[in-house]
Amino acid sequence: MRQVKLRPGEEYRDELEVELPAFEFGGQRYLPVPERIPAELVVTRATTGTVFSLAFTVRLHGPCYRCLGDAVLELPISAREYQASSPEDEELTTPYLHEDRLEVSDWARDAVALALPDKILCRPECAGLCPECGKNLNEEPHTHEEEHGDPRWAALEALKERLG
Ligand SMILES: [Zn+2]
Ligand SMILES: [Zn+2]
Repeated sequence: MRQVKLRPGEEYRDELEVELPAFEFGGQRYLPVPERIPAELVVTRATTGTVFSLAFTVRLHGPCYRCLGDAVLELPISAREYQASSPEDEELTTPYLHEDRLEVSDWARDAVALALPDKILCRPECAGLCPECGKNLNEEPHTHEEEHGDPRWAALEALKERLG
């Protein structure tokens, strides 16, 4: 469902389905699973305006930012929009309302985009890929001790620290 037609009434609650697209994030693609998600819409009308609340939980599947393994992000979303009855400036209107139709899927998509964390990880403590050999450090924890003993390496490390 992309749009809902508003019903009359001071306050009502609607169970509906929103459709979410794939998200581009940090150069990677994250797919909502499933694409159609049950959501709850609450519409509250007062003389000054209308408050819209939308709540749902989205699960995004895609690559981990550090190790590129599979990551699943579960995000509970709770968004609010306000439309003043006689808006004097744009701040008091919602871009998702056209006449008496609410663009729920556009709104849901934007709400998810705003709620994305800085990094999507397979687990909070993901060790990532080894910067030297590229192996997955979660599966094969290791260090490269020998190289650290190499004086040329030590010089590089010192330089890195200074540039820090
Ligand atoms: Zn990871
Ligand atoms: Zn390594």
